[in-house]
Amino acid sequence: MLLAPSIQPFFPPQRTLMGPGPSDVYPQVLAAQAKPTIGHLDPLFVGMMDELKSLIKYAYQTTNAMTLAVSAPGSAGMETCFVNLVEPGEKVIVCRNGVFGDRMRQNVERMGAIAVVVDNEWGEAVDVDALESALKAHPDAKFVAFVHAETSTGALSDAKALCTLAKRHDCLTIVDAVTSLGGVELRVDDWGIDAVYAGSQKCLSCVPGLSPVSFSPAAVEKLKSRKTPVQSWFLDQSLVMGYWSGEGKRSYHHTAPVNALYALHESLRLLAEEGLEAAWQRHQDQHWALRQGLEELGLKFVVPEEVRLPQLNTVLIPEGVDDAQVRQRLLQEYNLEIGAGLGAFAGKAWRIGLMGYGAKRENVSLCLKALADVLN
Ligand code: PLP
Repeated sequence: MLLAPSIQPFFPPQRTLMGPGPSDVYPQVLAAQAKPTIGHLDPLFVGMMDELKSLIKYAYQTTNAMTLAVSAPGSAGMETCFVNLVEPGEKVIVCRNGVFGDRMRQNVERMGAIAVVVDNEWGEAVDVDALESALKAHPDAKFVAFVHAETSTGALSDAKALCTLAKRHDCLTIVDAVTSLGGVELRVDDWGIDAVYAGSQKCLSCVPGLSPVSFSPAAVEKLKSRKTPVQSWFLDQSLVMGYWSGEGKRSYHHTAPVNALYALHESLRLLAEEGLEAAWQRHQDQHWALRQGLEELGLKFVVPEEVRLPQLNTVLIPEGVDDAQVRQRLLQEYNLEIGAGLGAFAGKAWRIGLMGYGAKRENVSLCLKALADVLN
């Protein structure tokens, strides 16, 4: 018999989260999560889920019936899209301009499909012309996949242009909106996105661990016409929809993360109350203020101005500055977290997030003051 460990309750400090996510959670969202747990088939809970579905649709600007929150983080949203739509042997053009594009490639290859990778420079947006050449070279491709807002670099790609091009070549589109949802313009229906996934922990400022996902009617058609079963039982949308669907009786699929869904409901309700366009503008306004201050400190942005994400500011670490030491001092002395570089940018850049609730003037001021102190 193992002895019971003597462990005290955990009291996390109040940090300011200005990394690549998770972002600071709205106090109202934390409060929503602390409400009493009720049954996940309780009629009141089911009513809340219907509202949540309409809030996800608003955030994505879609009328897609197959819209829900996967009970797992953004990576599971990614996997949901690939595992439901792509069958072994099918060809997927994956545009890769950072870590998460490469994660898409890995998903495609793990399900026995063929990934045609279109590589772009790290820090650049996905190149529309390069995609066009790949589509011409691979007329048998069935999908185009790309990351709208590459969190590893801070680059924003032109989702509308990429999807328009993909449609012209009869491809379905799979789009990663983990960092873009709520932070920059995203219009799922108008832009012709067929499958999209996001994360609760970025510009929605919700607790981590949920992934809003939406499939267009064409994507649903593809799912229904599969010749092989979806390899993942848990992520199979045709089964999950039995629980999320508004039609008829809800059936048990898995035990929904009840309190986390309260939190997502509240964060999306706050987004709807603010209005999408106002939220996009707020991210842009705070980015401009931060950008000015960072440049005054002599820091240089990695991403060209025209494709810079307002919610994720990637700057080069100045020559001779100790990356880890700076981030440690920010954390210890200011309770401020900024992000380290990822992949090709590890040790070379910092990623400063202005996401959701964190996209506000107090955070910009704190970050600039703390950096000025620590860098001098
Ligand atoms: N895609 C992008 C663009 C991301 O930034 C992330 C996480 O940072 C993911 C996918 C994976 O999401 P998660 O960490 O929630 O699984």
